[in-house]
Amino acid sequence: DSIVSLIDVEKSFGKNKVVKNMNIEIKEGEFLTLLGPSGCGKTTTLRMIAGFEEASCGTIKVQGVSVEDKEPFERDVNTVFQNYALFPHMTVFDNIAYGLKIRKRPKEEITKRVNEMLELVQLKGYENRKPDALSGGQKQRVAIARALINNPKVLLLDEPLGALDLKLRKQMQVELKRLQKKLGITFVYVTHDQEEALTMSDRIAVMNEGVIEQLATPREIYNRPLTKFVAGFIGESNIFDGEVTGLEDGILSVKTSAGTLKVKGEGFHVGESLHVSIRPEYVKVSTDTVDGFNLMGTIKDFTYMGTVVKTSVDMKDNTEIKYSRFEKDEDFQEGDSINIYWNPERAVAIKAS
Ligand code: ADP
Ligand code: MG
Repeated sequence: DSIVSLIDVEKSFGKNKVVKNMNIEIKEGEFLTLLGPSGCGKTTTLRMIAGFEEASCGTIKVQGVSVEDKEPFERDVNTVFQNYALFPHMTVFDNIAYGLKIRKRPKEEITKRVNEMLELVQLKGYENRKPDALSGGQKQRVAIARALINNPKVLLLDEPLGALDLKLRKQMQVELKRLQKKLGITFVYVTHDQEEALTMSDRIAVMNEGVIEQLATPREIYNRPLTKFVAGFIGESNIFDGEVTGLEDGILSVKTSAGTLKVKGEGFHVGESLHVSIRPEYVKVSTDTVDGFNLMGTIKDFTYMGTVVKTSVDMKDNTEIKYSRFEKDEDFQEGDSINIYWNPERAVAIKAS
């Protein structure tokens, strides 16, 4: 069952349509991420769900009921912003208690709930501090506690970890995901960081210029990108533009400006234009030619990335192919000529748009 539904939702600012024909059914208890580059409409989408922004057309439902006429505080949702938006003059306790105080809840209930929240976000002992005396990670925990205190059905989070340094961000990703699992609350999470989305989400909606290009599990998005944009935006990929020249047993032969290659693909015909995506970890190299492949190149350089070594190969059409290994390929040196190939099942055929 959907807890939040967006049905044909659009948003324009003046003549500028920034969210187009958006349809999402968010399931109860799900961790759903809106992922895309800056300016693609993520925040606008979240603000429409929260009620800070009105949709230009379409319907938004929370728990099956259209929220068009409901004020933000009447919707069963709360929002956590990147910049925390804490009250600087209030203590941690009062910041967290705020949502219950304005609802005039009894004092005992407030104290009990705030203590539960402090425990939940591991800030016991910090209740009398002001936000100024907290680290970035602690401030964000206060913001999360404050947003959770009313037991919202849905928590909307807009790049909540964006201001934290990498190490803390990684740690908070794990914490937030655990918290969400434990509470069973639906999270709608916005980020431009594809790794963060892959780590945390049950499903990801990949957005580009106001359009959802793919809505699927992290595994599916990573392994089976539907569009060239998704293939390029998620992880690292070598992407070719080409044309189908033959097909046999579900494997396509493809001609590209770098040479010929093979890819598994269904629903394509000879003569059709397409894109082919292959992850660096699946690229193989050989001194000999490999049946069905004619991708010759020259090794340009090796880059040590910590856990993997990336090798760049210059192709005859001046493109570059990258492959990665856990250890440097001792058989090859910079300047060597090599043949590139792969298991055709590992490559993805993408319809030309
Ligand atoms: P994201 O969060 O993905 O970076 P936004 O939803 O903030 O993207 O913005 C999407 C587009 O809408 C951008 O081009 C932005 O400039 C525009 N936009 C956002 N809010 C407003 C506004 N209040 N008035 C006019 N244009 C806006
Ligand atoms: Mg934004």
